[in-house]
Amino acid sequence: MTALADKARRIEAVLDALHPSPAIPLDHVDPYTLLVAVALSAQTTDKKVNQVTPALFARAPTPAAMRALSVEEIHGFIREVNFAPAKAKALRRAAEMLCDEHGGVVPADFDALVALPGVGNKTASVVMGQAFGAETFPVDTHILRLAHRWGLSKGRTPDQVSADLQRVFARPSWNKVHLQIIYFGRSHCPALRHDLAACPICSWAASKARIAAEARAAAPKKRRRATPA
Ligand code: SF4
Repeated sequence: MTALADKARRIEAVLDALHPSPAIPLDHVDPYTLLVAVALSAQTTDKKVNQVTPALFARAPTPAAMRALSVEEIHGFIREVNFAPAKAKALRRAAEMLCDEHGGVVPADFDALVALPGVGNKTASVVMGQAFGAETFPVDTHILRLAHRWGLSKGRTPDQVSADLQRVFARPSWNKVHLQIIYFGRSHCPALRHDLAACPICSWAASKARIAAEARAAAPKKRRRATPA
């Protein structure tokens, strides 16, 4: 086993202890409602998406029902999520394509999914993995950041990082670890200050260069606090 794969196993053990059965954080009941929820979650918190989807799904639980709504009506349901006008248009157009080209159901096919308006690689990966059981490793900005901080990838794009993570984590774990990293990031990674020494993963997984960089970043603040006004 390579050093990197060994590190990945240790990280997975910590994640298993902290988040043993990670649930999908977006409320949904089937592949279509998952697809809609994930598409809505771009640049928006899962909490906000879960607040708007009950009313939307009560009215439009299927592509055919979504298609029967106007873009303005869809926008009325989702106006509180970011980029609501563009997302409303994309949801309407995607519903049309699902009805016209896929018999009104979500296809279990990555290429067909990314061909839908408003559906990028990450959304398609999440749907393929969580709705259809495909082994995927979707990477969003949070997973990308942690893969760098833990020294598991130097990839610059989500696709490059996903490929690196697929190399070091065992295939049957991909969907689970993807969710676990999201939960870990939310519960442990603050936006600003990081105590690497106290962190259950960075305390041993972060590179020496990063530990030194964090120390340098914290040093001026300490000096400023020590200087009398
Ligand atoms: S130190 Fe902990 S909290 Fe900070 S980035 Fe690393 S994993 Fe996240």
